[in-house]
Formats: sequence, C-alpha cells, structure tokens
Amino acid sequence: MEKKKARFHLHNSKYDDKWNVGIYVRLSDEDRDKKKKTDLSQSIQNQTDYCRAFIEILNGQTEEEPELAEYKVYCDDDRTGMNFDRGGFQEMMRDIKENRIDCIVVKNLSRLGRYDTEMQKYLEKEFEQNGREVRLIAIGDNYDSLYKEPDIADRFRLLINREYSEQQHRNISIGMHSMQRKGLFVGAFAPYGYQKDPENKHHLIVDPTAALVVRRIYEEYLKGISPKEIAAGLTRDGIVNPAAYKRLHGSNFRCGKKISDEEVHWRGDGVKKILMDETYTGTLVQHKQVQKKLTDDKPTQVAKDQWIRCEGTHEAIISRERWKIAQSMMKTIKRDSTKEDEVTIFKGILKCGDCRHAMRKKWDSYTHLKTGETAKYLYYNCATFRDYSQHKKNLGENAPKCTSHYVSDKLLRKIVIDDLNKIIRQVENLRELAEKHQRTPKAECPGVQREIENKNRRIHQYRERLKSARHLLYDGTISKEEYDSDKTAIQADIDSLNNEIKLLKKSISKVRDVLSNLWVERLLENGVITELDRITVVEFIDKIYVYEDKHIEIIYKFSGEFDGLFIKSV
Ligand SMILES: [Zn+2]
Repeated sequence: MEKKKARFHLHNSKYDDKWNVGIYVRLSDEDRDKKKKTDLSQSIQNQTDYCRAFIEILNGQTEEEPELAEYKVYCDDDRTGMNFDRGGFQEMMRDIKENRIDCIVVKNLSRLGRYDTEMQKYLEKEFEQNGREVRLIAIGDNYDSLYKEPDIADRFRLLINREYSEQQHRNISIGMHSMQRKGLFVGAFAPYGYQKDPENKHHLIVDPTAALVVRRIYEEYLKGISPKEIAAGLTRDGIVNPAAYKRLHGSNFRCGKKISDEEVHWRGDGVKKILMDETYTGTLVQHKQVQKKLTDDKPTQVAKDQWIRCEGTHEAIISRERWKIAQSMMKTIKRDSTKEDEVTIFKGILKCGDCRHAMRKKWDSYTHLKTGETAKYLYYNCATFRDYSQHKKNLGENAPKCTSHYVSDKLLRKIVIDDLNKIIRQVENLRELAEKHQRTPKAECPGVQREIENKNRRIHQYRERLKSARHLLYDGTISKEEYDSDKTAIQADIDSLNNEIKLLKKSISKVRDVLSNLWVERLLENGVITELDRITVVEFIDKIYVYEDKHIEIIYKFSGEFDGLFIKSV
C-alpha cells in the first residue's frame, strides 16, 4: 500500500485525495449494425452505466485508496476506432494535458482504439507527461495501469485487436475493387488536371487551369525538351506544382497569400509522372497501389498487368496517339541513361531526411600523402543541393535549396550492418519469448479466452430468451408478429457473437504465428551480416533518411510486423 500511495502522489499533485475520472465511451459500427434504429443511444448509455457501476464498486471496496470521482463522460459516435482524431477522444486528451482528469475508465481497451501502435504511443508517451502518469482502467480486460505494468500478454492482446480491424479493412477493400471495375473513380483526390464532378464524386471532369499545364508539358516533351528542362521552365514561370495546387484548391484557399518558392518548384520526376499517366487519355487507371494491411504506412505497388483500366470514363486532355509517342520516347531515353549509371546498393532507398529527395551518388578520389597513390571512394549527397549548386543559373533564385548531407558509402554500410545485426539479435530473443509462451498456451492470452467464454455465455442467454419468447407466443401473451421480430433480432445477435468468437479464435492462432512469421524466419536465416549487398538491402529496407546533423534513420520493411512485440521485451 505504501508504494501505491507514493506513486499516486507522483501522478497527481493537484488533487491529492481523489482521482478525477474521465469515462470514455464509443459507439462502434458493430453497435450500429446490431441495434438498427432507435438503440444507438442505448449502447452509449450501457457503456456509461457499466463504467459508473464499476467505479462505485471500486470506491466501496477500500477506504485507504483515494476515491474515484467522475469528472466527465467523453463520447464518440460511429467511428471505427482506427485513429485518434475523434472529437470525444481529443477532448479527453486535452483535459488530461490541462490537468482536469488523471484517470480514464473504459469498458474495453478496444473502445479506446484498435490501432495497436498508436494505442501504445498513447499508453506510453502521452499518458506520461511531465512526470505524471494517467491511470487507465479497462474493466473488461481486467486492466488497471496502477497495479499492472503492460506485459507481453497485453501486447499480444493489442495484436489481436489489430486482427479485428484488419478484417474490416479487407471488407472495405473488396467494396472499392468492385467500384473500380465499374469505372468509378474512388480516389481521395482527382489526378492533377482533373477535378471531381460536383454532381458525382466518382466521375472526373477537366480542371481547365491545370489541364493547360498538362498540355504544355506534353507539347514541350514531344518537341524534344527533357523533363528536367520542362520542370525548370515551369518553375521559372512561377506555376505552382501539383502538390501545392492540390493543397491550394483542396481547401478552397484562394487568398492573396504569397506563394512560397517551394510551392512553385517543379522536379523532373514530377513532370515524368504526368507524362506517363494514362488518365489524360480519358482512361481511368486504378488499383495501381494497395494498402495491404492497415498497419502499412505506405501502399504496396501493384504489378502493371493487375491495374484496373476503364477506357472512356472521362474527357481526355491528351490524345491517345500523342500519349503513346511520349511513352515510347521515354523508354528509349531511359535505356540510354542506365548505361552509364551503374546501380549502387542503396538506389531508390537512400533519401535526404530534410527535403526528402533522393541522395545522389558520386565517385571521388584522393591521394595518399605518404605513398602518392590515389584511391577512389563513393559518397552520396542530397539531389536538391547538387541540382542547385550545379544549375544555379538555370533554376534561378526560386529553386529550393538544401544542404549537402554528405555521407560516405563506407560509413553508411557500416551503420546499416550494425543496425541489422542488432535487430537480428532482437529477433532471436523474440523467438525465445514466443517459444516460452507456446509452452503455456492457456496462459498465452487469458483475456481472449475469457472473452470467448463470455460470448458463449451470452449466446446461451439469448437462446434462453428465444425459448421463453416461444412460451409467451404459445400462452398468447405476445403476437406472432412480436415473436417474429424478437426472433429475428435475437438470431442476429447470436450470429454476430458467433462471428466474433470465430475471429477471436483465429487471432489466438495468429499469436502462435509469431514463430512462423516470414520476417522472423528470413532474419534468422540470414544470421549475422558481415557484408552488405543489394539483395539484402532491397529485401529488408524500405528507406534510409540521412539528416544534416549526421543522424540516420532506417525504415525497415517489417517495421509494422514487430510493433509492440520486441521493442520492450529486450
Ligand atoms: Zn535535401
């Protein structure tokens, strides 16, 4: 008890005799499906009552503990729980920051959020501000942060919540697919040169202003001007680039604000993208990239033969013939440039951390003072920086500037090798951990087992209700119509509970899958790395960012896979 009190004072200096409680309730889509019309507020009320009852019980249990005092109920309606930009949630976070509450009570952790990495961020960072900690009680999960440190079982739980959401994500993806096949535009933003039809958001119409720029780009390119030169020309003429154009238009932001240099700067790559985009011929090309999993930060590129193409869905800006000529021109030029350009192991992966553009390689040589021998060495620096220092005159004052971000190939290799080896050691630990859990499968995720038992119990209760409804029908207490509507509602509840159980059971096996996770396997197979090659880099690394302060950030392709699993367990 002594220890608890000491911790309590650390948490909270403002109110020393009680916890100020925020009750968080959320109505999910599942709630909505279940109780179709009038019962929306019912679920919110139920959750609130449930939390209040729990608080009362807890307060009645012991006199020594500081009391839990309800400050406010925070409520979100009809959100998926996938992100944290919910109004009620945001308000609660504000009240935490401003010291109005220091304890959160939720019915289940899943009410708080299902996106486990975000969830962890909040548990670990946001809640521990300025040396104070916010107590979190998740009643259904039997979790109270005051008594229990988040342990491996909790992290497995979070993984399971993710599985739930992934299922929903898959359903949404399937819906998108069928719309794309029908030639309906489903993107969030229209491609540059077009806008969404105000009458029908799945239809594109020409944006006359941007279409002028698109036509100019094609005309110049077909005349033989290179994408790089076209970009420089657009920049010189002060035309805002597509990213800035989208931003200015998306928010209807058309005040007299001065447009920054960055916003008018065009890059050759951006011009090339427009030159390759078939949309301008009136053909809708979708499904070029997919977000395979919700936890993926970046979408995965889809192979070209699997793109979904629908011709003639909207007005063309460029004729098909002209577009085709541009494509064949681009192919030949590409072939020429690769001849001299030998691929380095970091090609396409190494980026400037500050301006986010590519780092470009360069060979240089130096002479040993003693021996007089010259040696060649490879280094990289920021493409923006190099462009500007080489073409200052052409680009003009408007061009963006960056700093060198110099890093030698040798140093970079060493950093990557060291980091990868560190991860391989962590993965070895993770495997040991998972094996330990496998030996005691029942204890693996006690919360989930309990949840399955609970759901089974509820199914049983529903069946009993159905039985008594049948008796009431025979008695003549209720009409056939009343009985039928009861029966349909109850059956729907039973079905959805059965579905949830199925998902939970699947999730448990998912935990065991840690052992057979492809990345775990590949990393362990690879073993300690002594030499770095292109294959290893491409297999494991998504991006490397180099910052001017020599800080280097490596984004691995498996980043999402291990979230919340090994960061703390080693
Ligand atoms: Zn840069």
